Amino acid sequence: MNRAEDLEVAGRTVLVRADLNVPLASGAITDDGRIRASLPTIRDLLSRGAAVIVCAHLGRPKGDEYAARAAGGPSLAPVAGRQAELLGQPVALAADVAGESARTIAATMGAGEVALLENVRFEPAETSKDDEVRGELAGRLAALADVYVGDGFGAMHRKHASVYDTPRLLPHAAGQLVLAEVAVLRQLTTSPARPYVVVLGGAKVSDKLAVIGNLIGKADRLLIAGGMAYTFLAAQGHRIGDSMLQPDQIGQVTTVLADAARAGVDLVLPVDHVVADRFAADAQPELVQGPDIPDGKMGLDIGPATRDLFGRKLTDAKTVFWNGPPGVFEFPAFAAGTRAVAEAISAVTGLTVVGGGDSAAAVRHLNLRPDAFTHISTGGGASLEYLEGRDLPGLAALGDGT
Ligand code: ADP
Ligand code: MG
Repeated sequence: MNRAEDLEVAGRTVLVRADLNVPLASGAITDDGRIRASLPTIRDLLSRGAAVIVCAHLGRPKGDEYAARAAGGPSLAPVAGRQAELLGQPVALAADVAGESARTIAATMGAGEVALLENVRFEPAETSKDDEVRGELAGRLAALADVYVGDGFGAMHRKHASVYDTPRLLPHAAGQLVLAEVAVLRQLTTSPARPYVVVLGGAKVSDKLAVIGNLIGKADRLLIAGGMAYTFLAAQGHRIGDSMLQPDQIGQVTTVLADAARAGVDLVLPVDHVVADRFAADAQPELVQGPDIPDGKMGLDIGPATRDLFGRKLTDAKTVFWNGPPGVFEFPAFAAGTRAVAEAISAVTGLTVVGGGDSAAAVRHLNLRPDAFTHISTGGGASLEYLEGRDLPGLAALGDGT
């Protein structure tokens, strides 16, 4: 892949596809990690005399047409504001993605200036399955700039117009964030130091089965917790009460359990739980010993015995990949498991990689030291698909492997 740092950019307009998909609560940014992660590439381009136009998506706008999506939001306006604060210079927010407003800004901006296009997913074409439909939007985006830099690692697994089609229309290169992410993930997939321990949590087991399948035979231990663990426990015949369950996944999970046993992978599930009778921050936490959860209760965190067990499975690790919080860390009463796992991983001497938007947010939210990990990936789905061994469309478009 070409490096953005090697591009001649003085006096040129550079379109940077960034990942600024930050969590919002009532319109306010609750974690600006992805905005911060996008800054090194933008700063480098600005300092070398480029005009920088940033393109990014935010959330999942609803509606069939541009107008309905733009009216419903979310707008990137709060992101532009935060970006401006962090960069210490104004960021002009276009009123559209690649229309009149974007064209006017692109035509009038000068070297060292930054503009942000509106939420690219306001354009239904961004995510279209139709190559021609995406191509039309890509053409309008490419017309705004002279050069394309792909730096939105969290969107690299998407065959979207701004990620996959636009780079093919302009001279292109990978930004610093993407290069750093790929360098670390490559270490995980090529002869990781052993023991290699993978910790998986989070919500949906369906999101993670493919990566689990691929990690069997690569990782030495798989520690599984969070909402996804209950489908595993159910597949083993345990009672899980009202805990999160994907019944249609039980068949596949049973296969994964058998494959892991055959491959000699140490697949570890929770042995106790912190439960409640409802999914709420003010629900009363209760400890349940043993893997079974009584009717009327839902597992919202791992219990102390599981925290110890996971800690022991991590002490001698030389490589760790962690994706997905092992409990509902957003509720303080159910955050102990996530804190314990994060602390155990940060104590590991070796390569420790955190992948996943919510996991990265958990590290910051729980005031854990981000520098205690080798790398905190900005991409959840993208890092998982990379570890699954899939080609990421965005990397392919930037010439990965060449
Ligand atoms: P990531 O973004 O790191 O890949 P996911 O999106 O897969 O992680 O999952 C994150 C979510 O999983 C968090 O919001 C967390 O509250 C939720 N979660 C963790 N444990 C449970 C549980 N036991 N029940 C329900 N949700 C859970
Ligand atoms: Mg998530």
